[in-house]
Amino acid sequence: MNIHEYQSKAVLRSYGVTVPEGKPAFSVEEAVKNAAEIPGDVKVVKAQIHAGGRGKAGGVKLSHSPEEVRAYAQELLGKILVTKQTGPAGKQVNRLLIEAGSHIRKEYYLSFVIDRQTACVVMMGSEEGGMEIEQVAAETPEKIIKEYIDPAVGLLPFQASRMAYALHFPAECIRKAEKLMMCLYNAFVGEDCSLAEINPLVTTEEGDVVALDAKLNFDDSALFRHPEITELRDASEEDPKESAAAAAGLNYVNLGGDVACMVNGAGLAMATVDMIKFYGGEPANFLDVGGDSTPEKIATAFRIMLAGGQAKGIFVNIFGGINKCDLVAQGIVDAAKMVSEDGHSLPVPVVVRLEGTNVERGREILKETPIANVIMAPTMEGGAETIVNLVHAAEKQEG
Ligand code: GDP
Ligand code: MN
Repeated sequence: MNIHEYQSKAVLRSYGVTVPEGKPAFSVEEAVKNAAEIPGDVKVVKAQIHAGGRGKAGGVKLSHSPEEVRAYAQELLGKILVTKQTGPAGKQVNRLLIEAGSHIRKEYYLSFVIDRQTACVVMMGSEEGGMEIEQVAAETPEKIIKEYIDPAVGLLPFQASRMAYALHFPAECIRKAEKLMMCLYNAFVGEDCSLAEINPLVTTEEGDVVALDAKLNFDDSALFRHPEITELRDASEEDPKESAAAAAGLNYVNLGGDVACMVNGAGLAMATVDMIKFYGGEPANFLDVGGDSTPEKIATAFRIMLAGGQAKGIFVNIFGGINKCDLVAQGIVDAAKMVSEDGHSLPVPVVVRLEGTNVERGREILKETPIANVIMAPTMEGGAETIVNLVHAAEKQEG
């Protein structure tokens, strides 16, 4: 899960990381009011969206008067900001961060991520911070310095020190840089982050070391331990289908194609996506309905897959272990009742492959309540091929 910059900064401040004084604003008036309450002659007006690259796209403005704050707030609020990270559709700015301006001496890069290969947390730093870090990583990777951190002992002071010297912080900033690294590491571990990135980390004319930008990503599987982080979720920044699925306890990732699939178990779901690709289809999603599917959950999954007309066909591939095939079948029947006027049809072809616990009863349920458009498939391969062919045939008919 992602949160906004101003939220990340609040979390980091609570761990002792130095961040500029700032306040979020949801309206122009609030922006002007907050600017007046923040010290200093320069205020930064920053668009809050779940994407970086805002500086280059005009989403970060330095202002020197209340009038300028007002003008920039008016310009940014409601604007669709297109940055390198948003994709061509861009993202609408609904929130701003009004912040005390910093007198930057130099910009650095600092982040923590989990490195799967070494099963360690890795701290990465660079003197070449600021807006071009992707380019630095691609063209001069030697300018990115790494420290591998054994999770059993945590970030050791000598590692923070080695990083601070390697990045050539000025002497009076070394201790402050080390402290910030330790605090950022504590935040990373304490909040179960998958990423904590400060770009830029800056030294100021006053001799401080300040996190000028902040990006935290959280491990979704650990969110149950952090209700106060979960509350920061901004649904307007997320794919509405993915949010609806998360609320229903479904494991759903939108893949952008038009052949939807509903599967139980992550492994089978991945295999199913592969199979659809193999037969020439474009998977609409990855969807693992989990091992405790009720008819309601299955019906909800259908509603999500069909929303917005994305799915041109659905492949249901259930291997009933803990899941009961009869409950899945009942879910399909319920879904037809919910989404169609006559209660006995689904708007797109649905190929169903059921195997495992209570499969006989499941097949009976689907026979007792015939639903137009539902086809039974005896095997996974056959089912994938059938649904891809049906979707292609429908596309041809549409012209
Ligand atoms: P991003 O482009 O989305 O990553 O947004 P950042 O928060 O990193 O801001 C982009 C750039 O704006 C930074 O690299 C800085 O150069 C500049 N910037 C941000 N805050 C300040 C500030 O307080 N003072 C000055 N002079 N520049 C700032
Ligand atoms: Mn940045």
